[in-house]
Amino acid sequence: MTDALTLFDDVLPPETPVENRLLQVRTVYAEPAAAASPRGRQVLARFPGAELVEVPSHWQIPTLHGNEGNVDRWVRVKTETLVLGVKKSLSARPNGRSANWIAPSTANGCAMACAYCYVPRQKGYANPITVFTNIEQITGYLRRHVARQGPKTEPDQCDPESWVYDIGENSDCSVDALVSDNVADLVATFRELPTAKASFATKYVNEHLLDLDPQGRTRVRFSLMPQADATVLDVRTSKVGERIAAVDDFVAAGYEVHLNLSPVVLREGWEADWTALLQQLDDELGDAAKAQAAAEVIMLTHNEGLHQVNLGWHPQAEDLLWRPELQQPKVSQNGQVNVRYRNDVKRAGVDRLQQLIRQHVPWLHVRYAF
Ligand code: SF4
Repeated sequence: MTDALTLFDDVLPPETPVENRLLQVRTVYAEPAAAASPRGRQVLARFPGAELVEVPSHWQIPTLHGNEGNVDRWVRVKTETLVLGVKKSLSARPNGRSANWIAPSTANGCAMACAYCYVPRQKGYANPITVFTNIEQITGYLRRHVARQGPKTEPDQCDPESWVYDIGENSDCSVDALVSDNVADLVATFRELPTAKASFATKYVNEHLLDLDPQGRTRVRFSLMPQADATVLDVRTSKVGERIAAVDDFVAAGYEVHLNLSPVVLREGWEADWTALLQQLDDELGDAAKAQAAAEVIMLTHNEGLHQVNLGWHPQAEDLLWRPELQQPKVSQNGQVNVRYRNDVKRAGVDRLQQLIRQHVPWLHVRYAF
């Protein structure tokens, strides 16, 4: 079987560098103000061969969005297209789980294509990266928001001392950093904010991030699952072993590195494969990484609409994701029918995984599990 990285783009020779597999940009759709901005010009300069197409709004590009079920088309769009826009409304949303606040996005969309991902649904399934070019407004907003909070006086599970801002809710910052300096600017912003910390989850190892000197004010959360699951589900991402191998380097470079054990997919043999993954962490991570590590454990949630779409292009993923005998529906606030493991199944799964964590990686503090 092809691995997750090469699945669906095996037209390229195997020695092609990962970032070239992900991004061979031919067209940049841009709002005129975004294209004219310094950040927009930087992105255009990074992809000098790309054609610039002006659009009235990054939300309305009918030729790009949609294409449900046509994954060949999505992957091509994700690889060959970028969008530049201006983020209009800036606000930080309270969160309380992974972070205290969700920061205003500096990008949305993703060049990768995980089968369970909710990100593509916002702009149709062929959702390439949109870069928001008004980065100075966004970092200015964040500085003021952090200042308004004052120091954190009560520890919480997000962090004992710092207000945590998730900067990657709608994209993968490691890949965004291949496209523009937005992530570098965010890391530099939080470097100077002693009461706050940036945080993002990622499935891609971008070694360029090692040069950004975060001085402990940015938390990278490498998402991990057994490679057997990732091979089917984590389409176009870095392999799980590469993510684990990167942890020590990111700690040495000044990042706080946490682990997202997610999504946990219940299937035959899951306990043995998670045990092997935890043992790999114990064997491979250095003492410095272990001393600062913490984890989030998140059981799979899925969605009926996404299930139908996936059946059209990747039914093998649905063998893992769609398990009606174990799942119960939950209508979300926006009216979508989501499914998650039944309460009893989920509780047993969370308990078992926490048991395995205590047994195999006793140094790994679980920040939350649900
Ligand atoms: S890397 Fe993250 S944002 Fe990108 S497709 Fe996968 S889950 Fe979605």
